[in-house]
Amino acid sequence: MSELRRLLTGIGVSPGTAVGPLVIVSPPPLAPADEAPTTDPEAAAVKVRETLAAVAAGLTAKAAVADAHAKPILEAGAMMASDPGLAIAIDGKLQAGKGITNAVTAAVEEYCAMFESLGGYMAERVTDLKDVRDRTVARLLGQPEPGVPELSEPSILAAHDLAPAETATLNVETCLGIITAAGGPTSHTAILAAQLGIPAVVQAAGILEVPLSTIVAFDGGVGEIIVDPTDDDKVQLAERKARRAKALAGGTGKGATKDGHPVALLVNIGTADDARKAAVKDVEGVGLFRSEFLFLDRETAPTVAEQTATYIEVFEAFGDRRVVIRTLDAGADKPLAFADLGHEDNPALGRRGIRLGAIRTDLLDDQLEALAAAYKATGADVRVMAPMIATRQEARWFAEKVRAVGLPKVGVMIEVPAAALRAFDVLSEVDFASLGTNDLGQYTMAADRMQGELATLLDPWQPALLDIIAYACDGGARTGHPVGVCGEAGGDPALALVLVGMGSPACRWHRARFPAVRTALSLHDLVRCQQMAAAARAAQGPVEAKRIVLEMADKILLDLL
Ligand code: PEP
Ligand code: MG
Repeated sequence: MSELRRLLTGIGVSPGTAVGPLVIVSPPPLAPADEAPTTDPEAAAVKVRETLAAVAAGLTAKAAVADAHAKPILEAGAMMASDPGLAIAIDGKLQAGKGITNAVTAAVEEYCAMFESLGGYMAERVTDLKDVRDRTVARLLGQPEPGVPELSEPSILAAHDLAPAETATLNVETCLGIITAAGGPTSHTAILAAQLGIPAVVQAAGILEVPLSTIVAFDGGVGEIIVDPTDDDKVQLAERKARRAKALAGGTGKGATKDGHPVALLVNIGTADDARKAAVKDVEGVGLFRSEFLFLDRETAPTVAEQTATYIEVFEAFGDRRVVIRTLDAGADKPLAFADLGHEDNPALGRRGIRLGAIRTDLLDDQLEALAAAYKATGADVRVMAPMIATRQEARWFAEKVRAVGLPKVGVMIEVPAAALRAFDVLSEVDFASLGTNDLGQYTMAADRMQGELATLLDPWQPALLDIIAYACDGGARTGHPVGVCGEAGGDPALALVLVGMGSPACRWHRARFPAVRTALSLHDLVRCQQMAAAARAAQGPVEAKRIVLEMADKILLDLL
């Protein structure tokens, strides 16, 4: 066995296996400590503006050739580089005599602190802002912009954290996989890697100490990394890859347990482009259309006509298949410029989701009017649901509005513990509900879903989360109305079995990882799923819960993770 061989673990965020030489994305240049002070602030200000403009132009050029997911991220970076406020903040530092790269660094630091104090979505933007800083400092030092080097052979990239702009522009031919020391399951790196189909692991402590060009093998499903793998390791990984491909190739058609209980497999989408791509696949419809994703970068509210056109596009893409659309879930990590209610100390606990809809009824009314028009124009199977419902009264208020415009089916997200605990009451007002396990986990465990280091608390296998989900499913079952799942938890094939075991057979499913989920379902009957649910809930922690379920499952399930 090789002397260097060792195992590292992280959080698997994009499934798939990879073996290849490690390329470490070198850290960006720092502003030199011994930089000469600025003596001509006006001239330096001109140079800063020229440099920021060049950085913005570079990002804009990348955005022009990027796909629909990468584009807004690159454009956001370009927008930050073009922000006159940033240049003015740098002027202040130059006038105080700071050297030019130190002035940029200091001004960006202040901006970052401000964004971080705003929390949520704005705090996540700090990564984009630091990327702009690093590019600017490198240019001012006469160095190439930092980032992923040109890969001369297929390689695995390791980095502290990849900037969104870097991940978005990776070449899938040469980038075999991504391993980061930082980052979280909902970070841009994770989302974009999964979107590009590049296996990825985040929170992999020790990866940056591995020497350059060392061969590394890893599995982005389970988060296991083997440094300097043996031939045996490589064979095992290749076999696992082949077994996974074989297991996945078998399943097509509608989702059902082994004994035939139907479980609809539905995808989550955020744009009309997603809809077109997802609709050609073997899916039964859309489980969650995050309508706010259409408007994240808009300064002004979209008109009813604009919205109607987009909704028609999405509905037509799916023909007679169902489309579950969520009304605007703005606020907290998804602020919309045109729906800003001002500063809040705790935006995740503030006026977000339906609470914002109740204040800005104009936005909700316009959206419902557009949805009703698109429904009338297409006759599609449209189901409209509200985000962040906490009480029966909110559910009733929303249901009345939706029914008043002639939309046929109304539902709610169950992502606030109060709604889960009172699911019978809430579901008595509507036709269906969908469990938003991302927020339900965050609010149940009092752990910010954006904070990678809280990943253990946010693990969807936490027995407390499973208990609250079971409670919601029971409440829903008593009303006879289905309770589906649309949070990330539904994409874990093992957890999907547990969730089916807790819900009614009419329980519906939402998630882009449906081939693995479909295969997992087809291998287990409903009673087995129910036994797994009971065993997982009886466990003392998330790791034990998952281990017990995997022990009870068909061994093929291990290849689907
Ligand atoms: C959720 O909270 O689980 C969910 C699906 O909604 P979002 O991730 O958009 O908050
Ligand atoms: Mg949510």
